[in-house]
Amino acid sequence: MRKPFVAGNWKMNTDSHTSVELVKAIASRTSEAARRSVHVAVCPPFVYLQNVVNALRKSGVAVGAQDIYYEKEGAFTGEISSSMLKDIGCTYVLCGHSERRHVIGESDELINKKTAAAILGGLLPIFCVGELIEERKASKTEEVVTRQVKKGLAGLSAEKVSAVTVAYEPVWAIGTGLTATPQQAQEVHALIRKLLGQMYDAKLAEEIRILYGGSVKPNNAAELMHQQDIDGLLVGGASLNADDFVAIIQAAM
Ligand code: PEP
Repeated sequence: MRKPFVAGNWKMNTDSHTSVELVKAIASRTSEAARRSVHVAVCPPFVYLQNVVNALRKSGVAVGAQDIYYEKEGAFTGEISSSMLKDIGCTYVLCGHSERRHVIGESDELINKKTAAAILGGLLPIFCVGELIEERKASKTEEVVTRQVKKGLAGLSAEKVSAVTVAYEPVWAIGTGLTATPQQAQEVHALIRKLLGQMYDAKLAEEIRILYGGSVKPNNAAELMHQQDIDGLLVGGASLNADDFVAIIQAAM
């Protein structure tokens, strides 16, 4: 049985005050029942991680970073390692978010190194994949997502991949207000699960969580969660509003 998982990606938003206020509001407004039945995480900007970790102690809400570098330590100016994230109390890390792929220019190979380093360092990667609008229009969704999954997880054993949560985020649905229909999302989630079964084994495919992301809001969360292969939601914009994020958590129960 896969436990639902809702993660909030704050991107480059909030400040030292609003980041803490936001998580305090999320923690205090999430019902006991939701806490028991849904895993919840927030991914603030690096500079606010420590404050957010401190504010969320004993709340049951986990903290993730939005990126990582794959080397352990050394002369890598501006970068942050898995051991640093672990040291300050992070549990999760986003790897291969579409903005890192398409705005910053990260390759499948780099994302693979980051995902492997996250697992090695004891973090739980949220490994993101998803096609561009041109790729969907050209009926290339399956090809693109298959390539991203195969290259992104290359060289990782089934045991290592069991630490991974996959997030399917069609790029055309991120921050645009356009959501994939529950059927469109389910189709790709089923494809990813089947692919993982072929790459690893049926047990891993059955147990791994696959989140949907792309303009998730309180009014579409429940319908997305009703799909057989959608195990949770990766939420951008709506995770910056405590009421909306809590409503999405409740919808995921
Ligand atoms: C995201 O940042 O991963 C995301 C899905 O953003 P939004 O919910 O704003 O589309």
